[in-house]
Amino acid sequence: MFTKDTHALLQKSLEALPTLVGGGSLRFDIDELVAEVLPPSRIAIVDDSNTAEAFGDHVFKALKSRFSATHITLKAGTSATSEACDEIAQRAHGCDAYVAVGSGTISDLCKYVSHKENKPYLVFPTAASMNGYVSANASISEDGYKQTLPAHMPKAVFCDFSVIAAAPARLSKSGLGDCLARPTAQTDWLMSHLLLDTSYNETPFTLLEPLEAQLFDSARGVASGDMASIECLMQLLLLSGFGMTIAGGSYPASQGEHMIAHTYEMLAQHRTMGNPLPPLHGEEIGVTSLAMAHLQQRILTSKPRLQELSFPMEGIAAEFGSHTATQAKKAYWKKREHIEEARLDQGAIVSRWDEIASKLEKILLSPAKIESILKAASAPTQIEHLKWDTTLYGTATAHARFLRDRFTFLDLI
Ligand SMILES: [Zn+2]
Repeated sequence: MFTKDTHALLQKSLEALPTLVGGGSLRFDIDELVAEVLPPSRIAIVDDSNTAEAFGDHVFKALKSRFSATHITLKAGTSATSEACDEIAQRAHGCDAYVAVGSGTISDLCKYVSHKENKPYLVFPTAASMNGYVSANASISEDGYKQTLPAHMPKAVFCDFSVIAAAPARLSKSGLGDCLARPTAQTDWLMSHLLLDTSYNETPFTLLEPLEAQLFDSARGVASGDMASIECLMQLLLLSGFGMTIAGGSYPASQGEHMIAHTYEMLAQHRTMGNPLPPLHGEEIGVTSLAMAHLQQRILTSKPRLQELSFPMEGIAAEFGSHTATQAKKAYWKKREHIEEARLDQGAIVSRWDEIASKLEKILLSPAKIESILKAASAPTQIEHLKWDTTLYGTATAHARFLRDRFTFLDLI
């Protein structure tokens, strides 16, 4: 699916590389493809009623003559929760492998259930909507709390680009939004490395480099479902997922811009401000990446200061509840330790800032460019487009730095 150079770099950087196949149409080869990676076995094909219609029914029909196959179709709109994991495990009882046909939720559910059962899984993506297909973690909610849990990579990823390009445009635009976190996330991650000597790895970005500019020039094509643009987007999303696996965490794709979005979600959930039509992950990230790029640009051209290092326990407990506040305090304390170990004070920041800023300016993308990409795809650019509450968003931006141990531009002023 990738160029020779990219494939070689993936093989060098990963212990095991999943089988990767992409094509304009895989419809006639499905059983052959799956038989090459799975021995004759009992398999569970998992989709939801939307993705069943898009591709799952077809995959099931193609596999049922060759494998002992069970078809598990979840309700449309099912979330990636521990209850949904239990439902899949129960209905797939006795199977030896899982075949996911879907996007974020179905992929995360199969990734997590198969990992827990120590069984292989493979995935037929139905939308280029997010970068988690090949990451080794799964995002599963338990009792309303979204957690990133250890899981494993799929044994194979089979991309039928005609299916992926036919997904609703909102999903592909969301994938584009998630890709726009690369510049702000890399800028945060490298800044933390330069100031605090935290880990940093260039490989995830080397993987993205040959395709990223091409994708950002194809934003209109992504929105209109143009197959070449969608193929480019899907490749970039997969490479972003591999980058996270290589980095041992979501560092290259998730920093300040994701922290703002996650904090907003937690605040809204705590206040039970349920949004009947919540925005998609990548729609949020497109908007918060743009906001973060503005913040980074402003701080890069100023003489930054460290934000206060005290943790406002009472204020956080009032906004998020005492359980979240206790968890957040642990994460924030860890970050404070890094800052203290690095002996980072005002003098150290100011004396090195010009040199650091010149390095960061080479990797970021201007807010104007990010905004033009989002606008070309008719994707949300402002919090109003997400139907987010302005006051709550202000609270989320001010508190995001307390909820995670990552040192980002949110820790500077
Ligand atoms: Zn993301």
